[in-house]
Amino acid sequence: MPELPEVETIKRGLKDLVTGLSVKEVVIKNHKSFLIDENTKELFLFNHKVLDVKRRAKLLMINLDSDYSLVFHLKMTGQLVYVNHNYRFGAGHPTDSLIHQLPDKSTRVIFIFNNKAKLFFNDQRKFGWIKIIPTALLTDKDFFKYHGPEPLDLLFSSDVLYQRLLKHPNSKIKAVLLNQTVLSGLGNIYVDESLWMSKINPLTTVNRLTEKNIVVLHRSIQSVLNKSISLGGSTDRNYVDAKGNKGSYLKFANVFRKENQPCPRCSNLIVKQKIAGRGTHFCPNCQKIEIEK
Ligand SMILES: [Zn+2]
Repeated sequence: MPELPEVETIKRGLKDLVTGLSVKEVVIKNHKSFLIDENTKELFLFNHKVLDVKRRAKLLMINLDSDYSLVFHLKMTGQLVYVNHNYRFGAGHPTDSLIHQLPDKSTRVIFIFNNKAKLFFNDQRKFGWIKIIPTALLTDKDFFKYHGPEPLDLLFSSDVLYQRLLKHPNSKIKAVLLNQTVLSGLGNIYVDESLWMSKINPLTTVNRLTEKNIVVLHRSIQSVLNKSISLGGSTDRNYVDAKGNKGSYLKFANVFRKENQPCPRCSNLIVKQKIAGRGTHFCPNCQKIEIEK
């Protein structure tokens, strides 16, 4: 599932490519993927210049000079591929559509820009969607009131993390970090990796964490996300094929989907256990459960 780093990768790539362009035409192959009515499309999308491309949580937002924004949610299998003559940039869910001739059977919507470039919204499982929303609404804090802070925001300090965690003192840290009202955009992979890096056992309840644990956890979350973004999330540049390991989200992973393999830190075998309803990977040796102090 595309998570924060993949959406951030799309944002950074598209920002340089589509800013200043305008959409001339939209080809809709699956109406459930494109939740914009005819009238709104004519009035607020067509022929309006792209001002900026942004991300909040896992949503990608293309701000237009109509004061509306195109909003994309990639859900399970969404990806965006920009094609202009021989130039291609694509990111999101890693499948062959990133590198093959488009449109293909996963293509749901095609945007055609004034420079003839095309932006393909591909989504095998069809859970993703595209909407258009007044930009003022997106900057209104109420719109995102159920989302916690952005983990890569400059204002996100270890104190902020501490305050957010403390609202769930008796919950397991794994569950709390997956809760989008606590933090925005952290999914299963990034939670497991951050906890491993912090040497925190995913079953530890929040009230057992020390101040030092939280400082290290804060640093680990940012480091894991930044590393994944620097590797390009899942993009056509590192994609090889659907069977290869490359092109997955997992190039940087130390524990995620590494059960029964040696921990890169201590060589103990990594285990997989269902915690908070999710397959959770950790090293029982260097992520020991905190005993009462
Ligand atoms: Zn270990």
